[in-house]
Amino acid sequence: MQANPHVGHGRSAVAFDVIRRYLMYRGYAVTYVRNITDIDDKIIAAANEQGVSIQDVADRAAERFEATQDALGVLRPDIEPKATDHIAEIIDMIGDLIVKDHAYVAAGDVYFAVRSFAHYARLSNRNVDEMLAGARIATGEIKRDPLDFALWKAAKPGEPQWPSPWGPGRPGWHIECSAMARRYLGDTLDIHGGGTDLIFPHHENEIAQSEAVTGRPFANVWLHNGMVTLSGEKMSKSTGHFVDLASLLADNPPLAIRLFYLRAHYRSNVEFSPDLIADAVASFERLQSFRRRHADLEGTVPDAGIVAAFETAMDDDFNTPVALGVLFDAVREGNRLSDEGGDAAGVAVAVERLLEVLGLIPEATGSDGLDGLAPDLERLAAELGLEPGHGAEETLERVIDHRTEARASKDWSTSDKIRDGLASIGIVIEDGADGVAWHRK
Ligand SMILES: [Zn+2]
Repeated sequence: MQANPHVGHGRSAVAFDVIRRYLMYRGYAVTYVRNITDIDDKIIAAANEQGVSIQDVADRAAERFEATQDALGVLRPDIEPKATDHIAEIIDMIGDLIVKDHAYVAAGDVYFAVRSFAHYARLSNRNVDEMLAGARIATGEIKRDPLDFALWKAAKPGEPQWPSPWGPGRPGWHIECSAMARRYLGDTLDIHGGGTDLIFPHHENEIAQSEAVTGRPFANVWLHNGMVTLSGEKMSKSTGHFVDLASLLADNPPLAIRLFYLRAHYRSNVEFSPDLIADAVASFERLQSFRRRHADLEGTVPDAGIVAAFETAMDDDFNTPVALGVLFDAVREGNRLSDEGGDAAGVAVAVERLLEVLGLIPEATGSDGLDGLAPDLERLAAELGLEPGHGAEETLERVIDHRTEARASKDWSTSDKIRDGLASIGIVIEDGADGVAWHRK
């Protein structure tokens, strides 16, 4: 979790949200756990710098993080444990590692002995001897081996601390994850996710700690998402080389940003550019305009060919770019059928159902791009003598339909009045071949 997430953090969240949604769609019972490691060096440094409590920093970070998650349509985790609520489990696990000779105490710190774990760094395919050749023990650290990492850090002034058998201190970051994962998911997880930048050392350390305690595989499957790059370089908070996620979400329909992420396979790196964002916004609007054109189709059987093609793509390591290709082809075909007076209902129902699997339906995710505009839209509808709809989206639909009728009867003054009225509350409408599209200014 990040206090001010950048565009790369949003991508990781969306990648695993889609995997979760697809597994659920396929009938799996999914328990989704996302740890909050709410005690680490960065949080402590921020609290000391701002002169506020660590709890304050962590709470505010969680709030900002959650706002971006909700906007992106990321479902809330089933369980979201905080490290600070699990100090007892963490201490238990460290105690176990010491008893089993995988960890040792050194001046109030406790370190994991990397050499004691035969499979260390197997996930990242690294060679421990080669890594050791270039490694040094930093001054002030009392470790046996340069690759050993801290499980427990002895208390320092200005840092939070808890009592432990090794003296007061706080847990290291890696052990927080292992302890919480075991508490909620048992010895072996089905799937562990994360960014490629976490494989080493974080995920290697999680594996070493967990497997050294349980003797069982820690995760059956590891899924790692690629990075978002800016001018070819990974976005990073520490170097200042990043685009702020909250600002990007404020300036665009948030689900268009979700679409931007899903256009790349989760494993590949993706380059950020304003052109790609603009293109994703236009495509997202094409989807929404298709949905508005083909609403109220309850009871129709979805087109089996579209559903099968979508599932084939997603069954192949969650290939969202191919799955989206299937949906955009279907949208084109559905519009063509409707233009020719044919029956596009089966296509439209399939598109609707599958967009929901990808989390691209605004109403279903609570971020319809019209946040905060419901009162303005209702006022506009009332001025036009229209009843408001259930929710901002439906009210907007009625206003747009009213304008379409006005245009059909060449009532240009009403048509212009509606366009100007929408513009005044920040909604721009465009007439295209697929009907009327709208977006926020
Ligand atoms: Zn972790």
